[in-house]
Amino acid sequence: MTEDRKKALCFSCLYRDARPEVGVGDQLVYCIKKERVVSPKIQCDLYARATEKAKEHLRHTLYGSFNGEDEVG
Ligand code: SF4
Repeated sequence: MTEDRKKALCFSCLYRDARPEVGVGDQLVYCIKKERVVSPKIQCDLYARATEKAKEHLRHTLYGSFNGEDEVG
């Protein structure tokens, strides 16, 4: 990993779309927040650290909750 890549915020950011089918590789990142492909940023006002809790919250926001919505009985 290059120094630039290590410093780039996008790789630890909540808003990086890490799905392989996005297929933008190491040099580019699809940013969910900006809704476009970007080069990895060293500085970004929209950066949010991708903690497990934050990722879970984002999933709920994007896809809704499937837990607890099953029909009962
Ligand atoms: S919000 Fe900023 S740091 Fe996060 S993925 Fe988008 S461009 Fe990168």
